[in-house]
Amino acid sequence: MHCPQCQKPNELCICTHIQPQSTRLHVLILQHPQEPDHEIGSALLTHLALPNSTLKIGLSWRNLNAILEKKSATPNRWAVLYLGSGVKGENIEKQPLQFVSKKGAPIPAPEQLEGIVVLDGTWSQAKALWWRNAWLLKLNRIILTPRHKSLYKELRKEPRRECLSTIESVAEVLELLGEKSAVSQHLKNLFAQLLDKQRQRRTAK
Ligand SMILES: [Zn+2]
Repeated sequence: MHCPQCQKPNELCICTHIQPQSTRLHVLILQHPQEPDHEIGSALLTHLALPNSTLKIGLSWRNLNAILEKKSATPNRWAVLYLGSGVKGENIEKQPLQFVSKKGAPIPAPEQLEGIVVLDGTWSQAKALWWRNAWLLKLNRIILTPRHKSLYKELRKEPRRECLSTIESVAEVLELLGEKSAVSQHLKNLFAQLLDKQRQRRTAK
């Protein structure tokens, strides 16, 4: 049996713990349709916890307005969590969150950011989403250098050490962009609870 809200097996459902958190920034999560991990995947959980968010499942969309079903989204007021290999340049002190130019050089944060875009899926799925959605190229790019390791630990082998789950990335980015730390804390707590349930389930089997 699956929970109709979070779509997880009932033993993994933590819906009763979700306390929706308001944010100034809109969070748009694009999920690859083949995201295989319905157990500890965190895109839907993130969306359920953030009323000011949109979750879209698919491979390509025409542009930001088509996704958000409005006419006024301005690409330069949006930032995408970039998959690139890191901030380029010499003698750069690594910031937890860095806006970068199209060439990967550090640039100041834009004023008046309206929202962020996060690509959900495995590394290769996220890359596929990036290449199939040319409008993403028009957005600001942010590179996250997480201050903490993912809580996933043994539950999922991440291709790169710094890879966080979607919910952890969103938590980090929102806090670094000035949202209340309670928001980020709640998202991380939810994920920790989900992983606890998953660990218990594995032990029980
Ligand atoms: Zn649920």
